[in-house]
Amino acid sequence: MSQTKFTLNETDLPKAWYNINADSPVPPTPVLHPQTQEPVTPDFLGVLFPMELILQEVSTERYIDIPEEVREIYKLWRPTPLIRARRLEKALDTPAHIYFKHEGVSPSGSHKPNTAVAQAFYNKVGGTGALTTETGAGQWGSALSLACNFFDLPLEVYMVKVSYQQKPYRRVLMETYGAEVFASPTNHTQFGQAILADDPESPGSLGIAISEAVEAAATSEGSKKYSLGSVLNHVLMHQSVIGEEAIKQMDLADEYPDVVVGCVGGGSNFAGIAYPFLRENLTNGKDTRFVAVEPTATPTLTKGPYAFDYGDTAKMAPIVKMFTLGHTFVPPPIHAGGLRYHGMAPSICALYDAGYIEAVATHQLATFEGAMMFAQTEGIIPAPETAHAVRVAIDEALDAKAKGEKRVILFNLSGHGHFDLSAYQAYLSGELADYEYPQEAIEQALEHIPQVSL
Ligand SMILES: *Cc1c(COP(=O)(O)O)cnc(C)c1O
Repeated sequence: MSQTKFTLNETDLPKAWYNINADSPVPPTPVLHPQTQEPVTPDFLGVLFPMELILQEVSTERYIDIPEEVREIYKLWRPTPLIRARRLEKALDTPAHIYFKHEGVSPSGSHKPNTAVAQAFYNKVGGTGALTTETGAGQWGSALSLACNFFDLPLEVYMVKVSYQQKPYRRVLMETYGAEVFASPTNHTQFGQAILADDPESPGSLGIAISEAVEAAATSEGSKKYSLGSVLNHVLMHQSVIGEEAIKQMDLADEYPDVVVGCVGGGSNFAGIAYPFLRENLTNGKDTRFVAVEPTATPTLTKGPYAFDYGDTAKMAPIVKMFTLGHTFVPPPIHAGGLRYHGMAPSICALYDAGYIEAVATHQLATFEGAMMFAQTEGIIPAPETAHAVRVAIDEALDAKAKGEKRVILFNLSGHGHFDLSAYQAYLSGELADYEYPQEAIEQALEHIPQVSL
């Protein structure tokens, strides 16, 4: 009657990942080599990724089996609970029903281990000697450190220098799991050395850290490979366990979502919860709406053009067609570090362009007001990234109230904010800055996107 938590058994853990490319009505656009602008070859990708992940990246199979070794590790925290936010509903006095999928219960605190464990596994069985990666706020670095630890795979993490200094506990977490963490820019790579020669005090950026991690793998003569925590098709696919479980749990609640909400940085947690429900729209006559939420400070979908651009600052990563703010765009220093990427997963961009997905941007201050209300009603302190989804779930519930509708809202609680309390401290002391659209910085960065003729 007043059930709050909808939980599944370990036997309900999905046995396969879902691949949207099997059902998407919009064909994928080609991925281009950063220098030649010709479609990339498996050789190029093979320097950075193990073959099994390259095959998943280009696969159009609807389902890909989850290896038993990966499911065994998923069982440490999956299936994650689906929770009805009854106390939030009451505080909002809304006829809407609000549900959230709690991915913050993973050991490292976010959805990211869903792909980190899979990627570490395929690298291990593919004979990779060590992995390299970058991390901004530290969520991805923590998740991959956890996963590499389980598979006894050494890991080098290039952590953006300002975060390395401002978030010492994320670094300690990664080191506890056995990873080696460097403040990027470092002097271990040519790209890092060039940045430091130019500016010894460089605070670093995610674009620089990606370039360093890619260079470290590309120059290792095959011993090290590189791992990316979002954007790529195989990453989005690994996250589909979130939505597959949520479908079963909404069924236990005897409801079905009218709207599914998720925050978007590179797009993986949003796709993870949304794509299995989108499959039901495309193949099963459902008509759920999907809302991707981004910050006004990095308004990729809401303000960027749909164009070919590089995946990283140093132009070493492939060129893909995506909504983009320009690969040289430096976003304002919002607390949601995981949402500061200039681009977006290509499948999300294609589906948004074709009208299958909606997008909204929220201001930092309004976002934290939503997060405070959520913390005080439901007890969970959301990560600053997640707070964007919380804000829009609240806005949907208020809109339903204004229209006198019973609306079923499902959002993804992508992570908890226990390592982000400095952001809450800024909010509580009245010092949290608000950011409008960085119009001028976007216009300048867009002058540098490549001219691609196809
Ligand atoms: C990394 C991160 C995000 C953003 O990445 P996506 O790939 O868009 O999901 C969102 N929430 C949390 C908690 C994160 O750690």
